[in-house]
Amino acid sequence: APRAAAADRPARAVGERPARTAVERPARPAGERPARAAGDRPARAARPNGQWKIDGKTPLNANEELKAKDNGLNVRERIENIYAKGGFDSIPLEDLHGRFRWWGLYTQRKPGIDGGRTAQLEPHELEDKYFMMRVRLDAGAVTTKQLRVIGEISQEFGRDTADITDRQNIQYHWIQVEDVPEIWRRLESNGMQTTEACGDVPRVVLGSPVAGIAKDEIVDPTHLIDQITEKYVGDPELSNLPRKFKTAFTGHPSQDVVHEINDVGYVAYVHPEHGVVYDLWVGGGLSANPHLGQRLGVLVFEHQVVDVWVGVTQIFRDYGYRRLRNRARLKFLVKDWGVEKFREILETEYLGYKLLDGPPAPQPKTPGDHVGIHEQKDGRFYIGVAPNVGRVSGSILVKVADIAESAGSERVRFTPHQKMLVLDIPAEEVDRVADELAALGLNPRPGAFRRNTIACTGIEYCKLAIVDTKDTATAAIAELDQRLGDISHLKPIRLHVNGCPNSCARIQTADIGLKGQLIMNDEGEQVPGFQVHLGGGLASETREEAGLGRTVRGLKVAATDIPNYVERVVRNFEKGREGDETFAQ
Ligand code: SF4
Repeated sequence: APRAAAADRPARAVGERPARTAVERPARPAGERPARAAGDRPARAARPNGQWKIDGKTPLNANEELKAKDNGLNVRERIENIYAKGGFDSIPLEDLHGRFRWWGLYTQRKPGIDGGRTAQLEPHELEDKYFMMRVRLDAGAVTTKQLRVIGEISQEFGRDTADITDRQNIQYHWIQVEDVPEIWRRLESNGMQTTEACGDVPRVVLGSPVAGIAKDEIVDPTHLIDQITEKYVGDPELSNLPRKFKTAFTGHPSQDVVHEINDVGYVAYVHPEHGVVYDLWVGGGLSANPHLGQRLGVLVFEHQVVDVWVGVTQIFRDYGYRRLRNRARLKFLVKDWGVEKFREILETEYLGYKLLDGPPAPQPKTPGDHVGIHEQKDGRFYIGVAPNVGRVSGSILVKVADIAESAGSERVRFTPHQKMLVLDIPAEEVDRVADELAALGLNPRPGAFRRNTIACTGIEYCKLAIVDTKDTATAAIAELDQRLGDISHLKPIRLHVNGCPNSCARIQTADIGLKGQLIMNDEGEQVPGFQVHLGGGLASETREEAGLGRTVRGLKVAATDIPNYVERVVRNFEKGREGDETFAQ
């Protein structure tokens, strides 16, 4: 997610940091340095990492000070009573760049600032007086009534913007602080919220978009997700974590929630002795320092799921690193402790009971994006459509609600792949609904790249971005699908496009991942481009285990050259592949 606070900014590339001058670091006069005999160097005391249970709660950086001073949740009252009346200029910076995130609000990038200036300007110089607002939709599930409310808010307050994120949220742009209380009133009176949609908190819980309807479902975990969100979203006890905390649940055999890159992930499977249980993963996360989650090696029974979630979250709160912001994700603690210690602390200090050892869930056998037309277990159908890299609009969402309701459907779901499903369509209505969705630009039979490409927010709105993503990816998709046609025999080739070194679009988990940066073209001009990562992927029907893509030394591609580059890669792969070999292999 785009991050606003100064301490959040990504490390500057080499060469961007001004050299330290001699004046800043006076030389010690000769003779002042005490001679140290060999072997008498005092042992350096371990530097505190800001772990609350070990080092105490004294804040060790500006972000921790801000959170200790006043919980992010408390800013709501000020937004409603002060800032919405006083306007943008009445908001102090520590609320604007800090606590607003707890309610799903970030300032958006001022139009017209090119990517070359991103690292040079301070956040307040980059930002506009408008906000990005994220509506948290746990498990991506909405009713058509809720979808219409989401769309109408966008039309009225967000210049008709709406992006489906790769965490099943809807993101608006152009929101003014004056309108935020009314937006909350409309969302909340219809069972939706922006609470803890961003910030150092438990974020939206990913859930299988076909929960409760898929014919091949193992189990529907919706009630467990509901228990967690109803009880713990907005709980002050869990609202000051070291950094963001991401959760994923799936009861579908395609393992459709990218669980390996969440802080905690639950994957259901059928155990030969115990029936349906969950395989537990911890410590996944990407960004500039990517780690895949690790299996804890336990099986979790349904009645233990919520307890275990609370325990893992509390471990993060109590033992997570809080000194350096770029080491504050759970993945670093899991890496340093190892899964054995993590499990022991979870069992002894938080659960008070032992978990049973468990084997891994089996490899997925079907694609997990759910695009296309599929029969549900009740005999009706769901239709999965592929907007271009998640971009829709309020008007489109209202129309989707109308189309769904015209066929008797009341349910829509968003996926972690920036796609959308319309559920519960009777057989005799499927063709009509599919045609009407396609006429809106939501094709249930998209080309391979339209189907398998995602892109982050990029320079259009994100203050950390260096290059454009949404328009660049949309143009590339159209070109590639036209040039390459049907490549279904090659199995999915996933293309992920990021606007900066963060990894909101999960570049390290794509077959072809593009990381935005400025590059030199052949004429020696600086142009928007991308560093290429190849060969990443999560467990899927074509790959047994997740693996991170690698950069290919020196391989960079200009934004305008993406179609040529990707076409070359795909054609070379097709020419050289053996038998049924997939890109992932
Ligand atoms: Fe995330 Fe993209 Fe913004 Fe970078 S440019 S912070 S990857 S949304």
